[in-house]
Amino acid sequence: MKFKLLSLSLILSGCTSQLQVNTIHNSDLDVAYINDDKSTGTFRNFDPGEKAYPVTCQENCYPEHADLVCDSINQQCHYQGVQPKPKLNTKFKVKWLGHASFELTTPDKQIWLIDPVFGQFDWPVDWAFNLTGGFFRHTVSVNDQNLIRAKSVDAVFYSHIHYDHFNKADIKKLGTSPQYFTPLKFSEHFPNGSYTVSEMTWFSKTKLGETTIHFVPANHFSSRIWVPFIYSDWGKTLWGGWLFEHQGKKVFFAGDTGYSAHFKEIFKRYGEIDVCLMPIASYYHPENGQWYRYVHTTPEDALVASQELGCKVMVPWGYGNKSWQMGDISSHSALKRLLHMHKELNTDVSLYILNEGESVRF
Ligand SMILES: [Zn+2]
Repeated sequence: MKFKLLSLSLILSGCTSQLQVNTIHNSDLDVAYINDDKSTGTFRNFDPGEKAYPVTCQENCYPEHADLVCDSINQQCHYQGVQPKPKLNTKFKVKWLGHASFELTTPDKQIWLIDPVFGQFDWPVDWAFNLTGGFFRHTVSVNDQNLIRAKSVDAVFYSHIHYDHFNKADIKKLGTSPQYFTPLKFSEHFPNGSYTVSEMTWFSKTKLGETTIHFVPANHFSSRIWVPFIYSDWGKTLWGGWLFEHQGKKVFFAGDTGYSAHFKEIFKRYGEIDVCLMPIASYYHPENGQWYRYVHTTPEDALVASQELGCKVMVPWGYGNKSWQMGDISSHSALKRLLHMHKELNTDVSLYILNEGESVRF
């Protein structure tokens, strides 16, 4: 396999301080492959085009489950099932902070955050939503937010630029001491300050402490700014997932993604994965359901993907009491459907359900 090695360091001047950007591209996949249109610099998916979904829940997709206790129908729930923890000995500790946010403690005791968004959206989206009565979340409590920020965070990882995954206000609060890892073309979206940002291309890798970091594809899209007829940044930043590897043990965060051939490609390149953090919500929309599923896995898509990835255990996310419930129909319907389809599919992938704020060492 031929590797192209390219590492660029450049300094972008901010108003008051300097952003340090390092571009990591040591993959056999040419950047041009994912550059859909060089003149506009937009990216495309690894496996674009129509999809055949192996399984679709057809009826009775949201049955009651004895281990899921809710205040009202599918809303404000707590999972209380007794779960045997698979013996994986990865030495990674996983804490779910709500929606797509995770805190990962690495085997060498580093604290890493994935897609940390603790409040609402960045301005002006929060402001526009306030005016129009759009969707809001129950935010992570101020105490918990302060506890997370008080820890010495070593690294922060972003999967893509959407407002519920990348929040400038939280970056400012996390400060300049963590190292930031992002998909390509993110640095211009950082606030002013002396942040250290490593932008990565798909299938590139780097190392932090004892853990190897791989950036991998997801089937999604990017957009952050849209002014009708004037400006759109659709596809101008890359998107993806993260695979963390320590002494052959692997933890995978899929990012926002629909079901596509990229999962089989990840398995082909890296082999079986110990722990898979998989999105299961945001697949539903009354008019645009097809598009929503194209970019967000249903619970059964996530199960099929986990099987293709060789995941030993799958931890679901994207739903929850502290989530935005975007494209979903309630806080916990997606988890109900997952529990139902897990039984239906009789898969050998184990599930491990976390309530928001809970953690587990695998
Ligand atoms: Zn997204």
